Amino acid sequence: MEKIKVGILGATGSVGQKFISLLSDHPVFEIHELAASERSAGKVYKNAMKWILDAELNENIGKKIIKKAGEKLESRVLFSALDSGVAGELETYYAKNGHAVISNARNHRTDPDVPLIIPEVNPEHLEMIKYQKYGEGFIVTNPNCSTIGAVLALKPLHDKFGIKKLNIVTMQAMSGAGYPGLSSMDIFDNVVPYISGEEDKIETEPNKIFGKLSENGIIEHENIKISAQCNRVNVIDGHLETIQVTFDKKVEKVQIIEAWHDFESIPYKEGCYSAPKNPIRYFHEDNYPQPRIHRNLGNGMTVSTGRLRECKFFDYKFVVLSHNTVRGAAGGTILIAELLEKNGIIK
Ligand code: NAP
Repeated sequence: MEKIKVGILGATGSVGQKFISLLSDHPVFEIHELAASERSAGKVYKNAMKWILDAELNENIGKKIIKKAGEKLESRVLFSALDSGVAGELETYYAKNGHAVISNARNHRTDPDVPLIIPEVNPEHLEMIKYQKYGEGFIVTNPNCSTIGAVLALKPLHDKFGIKKLNIVTMQAMSGAGYPGLSSMDIFDNVVPYISGEEDKIETEPNKIFGKLSENGIIEHENIKISAQCNRVNVIDGHLETIQVTFDKKVEKVQIIEAWHDFESIPYKEGCYSAPKNPIRYFHEDNYPQPRIHRNLGNGMTVSTGRLRECKFFDYKFVVLSHNTVRGAAGGTILIAELLEKNGIIK
């Protein structure tokens, strides 16, 4: 099968590099074009950025000349890892010019006609693409990196027991701030109890993702009450979140663990390459999951849960861990594209 040619917008950044690493040997997609700001445009990729990943940069991709985001591109499918200061307009421009834009940036997440997709949670929302105003092109977004971990873990519980309210406290890794991110003097030996805009995203995005798609392509948002507090911690990759939850009905602890264990992944069943068979893994050990030990489970696509216990103020409390630049960014976005391909929406 001939591979589908793709472009990466924001290819030089932290998420852009992860896209390159995950797509370098992909069975369906082939990296054709790289684009970034005018600071990088015209330069050979390997000389234009500082490679920050453990995996080696593919030699052929390293030789590509970077294009300027905003210039005409050839690839129908564009993965966006653009800085949010510019992502909104550039993604609109490319969608209007017939591209399938699949984005990590926050800018279009709240557009009423743009789906906010976690492939295992709300694949049916891809129907919204039909109602978009971009002609042949379209925009699909993935949620905030902390939202993704929390909502994937909550999906089987919401389906079975109904969630009434949530309290979410995050401990977010440094790579979530991009490259070079925070200065060492800010984050070494420290925790920063503020991440701009993050709490609002975690308090609103789950209700769109869990929302019901009506016949005219509009999402009726779910009505879960959510409170979030976000902290930046001295960890390279992997967001840890403590979650307190109250359900609509009485639930036993064993039912929650069963719900996680039995959760079936639609993208895995459809044969999507990046989909782990079991996207949620529960740990019984008291001190698990931990970022350094568990963030790469399922090639960074598995969300780990643990420490499930009764709560004095809510029904239950537990911990969630997910890899922020893989499941929470590039990997999650690639899985959306794989699902679009399996459904014949991109060819
Ligand atoms: P980053 O490391 O700062 O990279 C930003 C990218 O945007 C670079 O390629 C940069 O190109 C490009 N860019 C900046 N200004 C531009 C301009 N004026 N015109 C065109 N391109 C421009 O950020 P990141 O962490 O990779 O994040 C990328 C996006 O994904 C952001 O919207 C972020 O919020 C979102 N996201 C990040 C994570 C994460 O864990 N890091 C998770 C989920 C979502 P140059 O190198 O040429 O400046």
